[in-house]
Parts: sequence; C-alpha cells; structure tokens
Amino acid sequence: MKKYDVIVIGSGHAGCEASLAAARMGRSTLCLTINLDTIGLMSCNPAIGGLAKGHLVKEIDALGGEMAKNTDATGIQFRVLNASKGPAVRGSRAQADRTLYKNRMKTVMESQPNLDVKQGIVDEIIVEGGQVVGVRSNIGVEYLGNSVVITSGTFMKGLIHVGLVNYAGGRSGDLPSEKLSDSLRNLGFEIGRLKTGTCPRLDAKTIDFSNLIPQHGDEPPAPFSFSTKEITQRQVPCHMTYTSEETHNIIRNGLDRSPLYSGVIQGVGPRYCPSIEDKIVRFPDKIRHQIFLEPEGYATQEIYPNGLSTSLPYDIQLKMVRSIPGLEKAEIMRPGYAIEYDFAQPTQLKPSLETKMVKGLFFAGQINGTSGYEEAAAQGLIAGINAALLVKGEEPLIIDRSEGYIGVMIDDLVTKGTNEPYRMFTSRAEYRLHLREDNADLRLREKGYQIGLVSEDDYRAFVEKKKEIEAETERLRIVKVPPTSEVNCKLESLNSVRIVEPITLENLLKRPEIGYKDLVELTNYGDSPDSTTPLRSVRKSGTVPSVAEQVEIQIKYQGYINRQMVQVERFRKMEKMRIPDDVDYSEVPSISREVRDKLSSIRPLSIGQASRISGVTPAALSILMVYLKGRTHKRIVL
Ligand code: FAD
Repeated sequence: MKKYDVIVIGSGHAGCEASLAAARMGRSTLCLTINLDTIGLMSCNPAIGGLAKGHLVKEIDALGGEMAKNTDATGIQFRVLNASKGPAVRGSRAQADRTLYKNRMKTVMESQPNLDVKQGIVDEIIVEGGQVVGVRSNIGVEYLGNSVVITSGTFMKGLIHVGLVNYAGGRSGDLPSEKLSDSLRNLGFEIGRLKTGTCPRLDAKTIDFSNLIPQHGDEPPAPFSFSTKEITQRQVPCHMTYTSEETHNIIRNGLDRSPLYSGVIQGVGPRYCPSIEDKIVRFPDKIRHQIFLEPEGYATQEIYPNGLSTSLPYDIQLKMVRSIPGLEKAEIMRPGYAIEYDFAQPTQLKPSLETKMVKGLFFAGQINGTSGYEEAAAQGLIAGINAALLVKGEEPLIIDRSEGYIGVMIDDLVTKGTNEPYRMFTSRAEYRLHLREDNADLRLREKGYQIGLVSEDDYRAFVEKKKEIEAETERLRIVKVPPTSEVNCKLESLNSVRIVEPITLENLLKRPEIGYKDLVELTNYGDSPDSTTPLRSVRKSGTVPSVAEQVEIQIKYQGYINRQMVQVERFRKMEKMRIPDDVDYSEVPSISREVRDKLSSIRPLSIGQASRISGVTPAALSILMVYLKGRTHKRIVL
C-alpha cells in the first residue's frame, strides 16, 4: 500500500490549506474527508474576513495559502470595515457565493499535483512507539503516512440541537465523526466539549425588501489576495433590518424550550458570537438588534440573516423571524441550530501545531478550540507546512507574535489554552501598529517563498513592489515644494498651514490633513528654485495604489511605528532566550508547585513564551533564568 508523507483528515478551511500546503511543498499528500461534496464548505455565514480575521486571510495569502484567492474569485460583496479608522484596525470582509466558493476549492484541491483526495471517515489514529504511522477508516481501510494532520472541525461527536430535539451530526446535513475523539482519548489526549450555533436560512422570494435599507459593498471592490489585480464579477447588496419588541417577547417566552437555557447543552459557546436568545438575556435593556440579510449566492434564493443565530425550537424560530420588519411572510428554508462537539485542549501542542505526545501528529482548526474559517485556515496552513517540513527533516516554521496575527493566535492557544471558542481580535495583538493588513506581504511573503509556497511570478511582483516603496519613500524625502501662491492656495483648501520656505513632500505628508493623493497636485506647481532635484524629473502621477498606501502609512505613522519596533526588538530578545527541550523543571529550586506544573506541561520554547504562561511570575522567571545559566555553565565545565 502507498505510504503518504502527509495525511490530512478533513477538507474544511483548515484541511484544504493543510493539504494544499503539504502537496505544494512536494510531499505526497492524502486528504481524507467524510463527504467529497462539502470540500471548502462554509458551515455558517457565507463571508470571509472581518476585523482581525481579515488580517489572518492576508497573512495566509502572503505565505502562499489559498483562502484569499478563493474569496476573490467567488466574492459577491467586498468591504473594508473601519475604513475611516487607523490602518491597524481596518479589516477586509467579503461575502462569497457559498456554492461557488466550495466548488472552486474542490477544483483546486483535485487538480493539485501530489494530492489525492478521498472520501472516508477516519475512526482511529495508528501510533507505533510514540510516532504516528497512519489512520484507520470506519470500513477498516488503513492509510499509511509519516505525519497526520487532524482538522475535524465541529464533527467529533457532533450533537445538533434544535429546541429540545437533538441528534448526531457533524453539521446540518453531514454525518458526525463518532469514534475519532475516542481514539485520541485512548492515546492520552485531554478532550473537552464546546458549542457553536448558526442562523436559520430564509427564502428571498418571501422577504419584502421594499422598506429595508440596502447596503452596498465598496466601489471598486478591493481584492483580498496580493496577487489579484481586480474583482470582475457582479457585486450584490445586502439589506438591513432590526429585531422588534415583539421579537424579544417571543424569544423570552420560548426560553423554557431552549437547549441553552434548559441545561441540555453542556458545551461552552462563543462569547463573542452569541445566539439571539443569548443577546436578549444578556442585554435586556437593548430595544433592538441589527440583522443583515446576506444573499448566499447568485443562483440561490437562500438568505443568511446575520445576527439571528439560534437553537430555539422551530415554531419559535418561525414566529421570531416573522416579527421582524420585512420578514413578516418569510419562510425558513433551513432551521437554525446549535452544535456541541469534542475539541482537544491546545496546550497539548507545540508552536508548530505538532502534538507533544505523538510525533508526527498535528491538530489544526476548530479541533483546537477556535471558531471561524480564517482561524482554522491559518492553523491548517501552518500545520500543513510543518508536517511537510518534519517529513523532510527540517526545522518547523514558527511565526512569532511580532510577525503576524497567525503567531499571536497560535501562541495564545498553545501557551494559555482555551475553555471557550477562541476567535481573533485586533486587541489580542500587542504589536498591532506593525501587524497591519496592508503590510502582511512585507512581513511574510519572503517566508512563504523560502518554504516553496509562493510562486516565482508572485515573488517577483513582491520584490518589485518593495523596490517601488523604497524609491517613492526616498523621492518624498528629497523633493521639496516651493512656497508659491498656488501651493499655499492648495494648502489652505486642505485646511493646512501655509508654507514660507520650501518643504519636503515627506514633511507635508506627515500633516494629518494631507493625503498622498494631494501630493500629486502639490508637485504640479513648478520646480522649486532651491531644490537640487527638479520636480519635472521626479513628478509622479501613476504610483500603484498599494505602493502609495504603504508609503503614506509608513510616513504618517513613522513615529508610532518606530516606537513599536523598539518594543518588538525587546520581545524578540526574550524569544531568542531558548529553553532546552530536556529541562527537568523539578530541579528548578524555589518555584511554586503551580508554576513548576505549568512549565512542565506547556514546556515553553523560550523565556518569552514562559513569561506569557498564566501564573508564571517575574520572580519565577528570574529563578528559571538563573537556573538555566547555571546549567549551561555546569555543562561547559564538565
Ligand atoms: P470544518 O470546516 O468543520 O471541517 C471539518 C472537516 O473535517 C470536514 O470536511 C469533515 O468532513 C472532516 N472530518 C471530520 N471528522 C472526520 C473524520 N473522522 N474523518 C474524515 N473527515 C473528517 N464560526 C464563526 O466564526 N462564527 C460563527 O458564528 C460560527 N458558527 C458556526 C455554526 C455552526 C453550526 C457550525 C457548524 C460552525 C460555525 N462556525 C462559526 C465555525 C466555522 O464553521 C468553523 O470554525 C470552521 O469551519 C472550522 O474549520 P475547520 O476546517 O476546522 O472545520
């Protein structure tokens, strides 16, 4: 039987990225999944990105992943959220055509060299002498592999709830994975239970859109991928409506049949993505909640009412929906539901996403306690890369907290673990002025190229962009604008202070009221008499927008960015203080038992990571550092 380098279990967002990464890195890869028709399926809302999640998608793209390209090819509405706020907290979001998204991903997976895609339910992980050697399916087929990545999503012992009725399922319409988590438990993994939920889907033919507020996307739509030139497909609007007092009364009266409030659901739900019944109970004073009616695609009537996630009984769901303006006659095409599922506490993983207990076994996505497509895809990509590197005998790729949101998320998971579904937020990143969406390529493209995931063409375009940024930044540093009456007139029209002597474009751009596009006009007013560089020769009008954006951000926020880079340097110094693999924490004197247990179980790679473990005090850290110094000294003497 063929022995694969990498076997990936699952073809959701984590599974697709893991499979593609391993195969593109030249490893023979098998993706096994319960249903081949649901490759790349979005289980919940038909949208990719959003605040902080957009960062993850751009980082996945910079490293050579597929999610951004798939979204660009199938997106039906693109928007930059927080566009009027600072660049660090802007987030790209796109609604995608659910069917086109999954179909394109299936085509990409099936046409990828080195990748076999097969249908099968994995029941067991086969381990020999602490090393994974393959998997066994529910019909007794064994697949051999040097490494295995599990991306089981919400499927392990999935239990679907609609009111007080519940039944086994991986998600609506899909079989569950009943035995995989038993196999993990038998191997010694700690398995917990979480819960998430989704909205009912409505029939657009039965919705009265006439009085609802339409919401259009950005014009022109900005692509997610650094490789996409433009979005050419037709864009569609969403509509906004609100819950009413009647909606809230219907929900309150139905709580006795809610699986959440009657104690039927045991798993912990996503605090930041609550169900509508949760919102009514937690915020009793709020008189209405916003609902976005999002089309699921061009060729379907299904509408996703974003904000109405629920697991109330069907009759209450219908009454609740019909109490909302515009939805008075709405028909439910699919009921909303909640799902409970097994997950593995992520502190059982190394930062490479390999398990500490079984060599060659990796976990990625919702199995690690996260929620969201983007979080899953980012972990899938890293696990796929590291499974491929492990087989090649190479060092793992670890993105640290100063390099990307991917690093922040994985470090949070493996260092602190989670007891509720974890989602990404900008506030989780301490270096967010540096970790922006717009510079994800500058931060990570090189790494993606080095490991072989970024194509030559994409890399050449990236190198060219970097050169243009440098050249344009230099130009703005040198070129001066003269204090002519036209220049001062233009400055006044921008509510900016007049100039009395020549000033560099860089200094003008530092003024908050002046944008890069204003510079083009300001350099149109003739050469500066005392400038050594004639404006004629340096005047620019056709700078690529992504270069202009980068130059503008770097110059405007230079002071803040420089200050942040000092903090980043401090952080990196701590990360470089490595802790050897074989440290026996029982030998470290004078630290509390709690700290000792935590260090032994997390096994941090560096003093930096140790400092982020809850309960590890600065005093304990100093003792550890002294101990490590003494240990090295002793070894050298020996
Ligand atoms: P999934 O996309 O779930 O894919 C899992 C894959 O593993 C599937 O292909 C499945 O067939 C396969 N698989 C599982 N077990 C086996 C096995 N034993 N053998 C072979 N294949 C197997 N996210 C949010 O951000 N916000 C939300 O509000 C939200 N609500 C959700 C509501 C519901 C009802 C569901 C189901 C999900 C929701 N999500 C939400 C989560 C989002 O769908 C997931 O986070 C994301 O899809 C996880 O990606 P994944 O790749 O880890 O797993």
